[in-house]
Amino acid sequence: MPPVSVTAEQTDRNDQERDRYLMEIGQEIYQLIGRLYPICRSITGNGVRATLKILREYIPLEIREVPTGTQVFDWSIPREWNIKTAYVKDSQGRKVVDFEKSNLHVLSYSVPVRAKLPLEELKKHIHTLPEHPEWIPYRTSYYREDWAFCLSHNQLSALPDGEYEVLIDTSLQNGHLSYGEYFLQGQTDTEVLISTHVCHPSLANDNLSGIALAVFLAERLSKLSLRYSYRFLFTPGTIGSITWLGLNEAQASRIKHGLVLACVGDAGKITYKKSRRGNAEIDRAVGQSLRDSGDPYDIVDFSPYGYDERQFCSPGFNLPVGCFMRTPHGKFSEYHTSADNLEFVKAESLLDSFSKCVSIIDLLEHNKTYVNQNPKCEPQLGKRGLYGTTGGQTERKAAELGMLWVLNLSDDTNSLLDIAERSGLEFGVIKTAADLLLQHHLLKESGNTP
Ligand code: ZN
Repeated sequence: MPPVSVTAEQTDRNDQERDRYLMEIGQEIYQLIGRLYPICRSITGNGVRATLKILREYIPLEIREVPTGTQVFDWSIPREWNIKTAYVKDSQGRKVVDFEKSNLHVLSYSVPVRAKLPLEELKKHIHTLPEHPEWIPYRTSYYREDWAFCLSHNQLSALPDGEYEVLIDTSLQNGHLSYGEYFLQGQTDTEVLISTHVCHPSLANDNLSGIALAVFLAERLSKLSLRYSYRFLFTPGTIGSITWLGLNEAQASRIKHGLVLACVGDAGKITYKKSRRGNAEIDRAVGQSLRDSGDPYDIVDFSPYGYDERQFCSPGFNLPVGCFMRTPHGKFSEYHTSADNLEFVKAESLLDSFSKCVSIIDLLEHNKTYVNQNPKCEPQLGKRGLYGTTGGQTERKAAELGMLWVLNLSDDTNSLLDIAERSGLEFGVIKTAADLLLQHHLLKESGNTP
């Protein structure tokens, strides 16, 4: 409950402190992205380990190592991939492509190569983006042995005929798949899952933004007293979530709500992709929360294409996990190119994504069901001082309406979210009304709380 007797000055000061704190959070999320940006990550290898080690400076996450060959449902953990260096040299021995300049230059999971070959042959192992001649594409070949370089189209056009020396100094050996897990115990064992992929190299929005946002959410939640327990997963895309589900099948049903975080730092509006269930509490909570924000947003239906929600929402699990994004993958031209860089993500957008995730979690935490203790006709609110207590006329009207809706629908079956949806009022108004009514013993918490 906010204190009711706070003075106007105090409110201003609190607002300023809050604004400053929030601005700092946006900057801090951005700075973490900057620290992680240079590291060459893939679905396995030292890049993921180095990333998780940095995250451990912020939150005490566990780093799990799963050996190559471990069977997880229809998949098995691949060999571990590491890269030392890679280049293409021209006939004068000048490096014309250099992994040190951009880790996107090497096809992720390239097998080792040392060869001399003419341009025509080399071209069979080069990817470019002719429609964006300045950008380097990001390409992978995890499950088919191959090697290649990725170049800007301009870089390729500038290569004269002749013989080239190529070196890709990589190793593909039995090792481990690494992932990070951070569990926050709440008052109940029922879990909220926050999952994000950690397998992309120098790409800022997809998905250093998701990683950094998850870290700061975890850090924030670790300071609060929470109803739910929270599980944060930092896994390589697809194989990582399949691995977690494979190793934790028995406890997956504890997950009552979940969000996959991806592409949360660009300047576009929020897009939420619903869980396979389509009307799970998380789907409704996100819908309500975005509506209440007053900002533009999109909500799209589930499809079995995208990020790790594909695995969490596979029919054998069907977990209520949606995907929280700004501009979705494939809908921005910088996607999977060198233009998804530190300029493409913005501290303000990261802050906005952070604040919206906090609101969604806040809604889930407070979405309870109550029972009206005076159900025969309306209780007399005036004699309890519950009319006209707060704010200007519009706010007062909303607050009163909120109380009437809460009293009317709190019959042991409707949650506060049900009431917000049915009344068209903001969740915050409904929640404040419920708090006031509880204080005046007109409500009590139901055993049916969702
Ligand atoms: Zn991606």
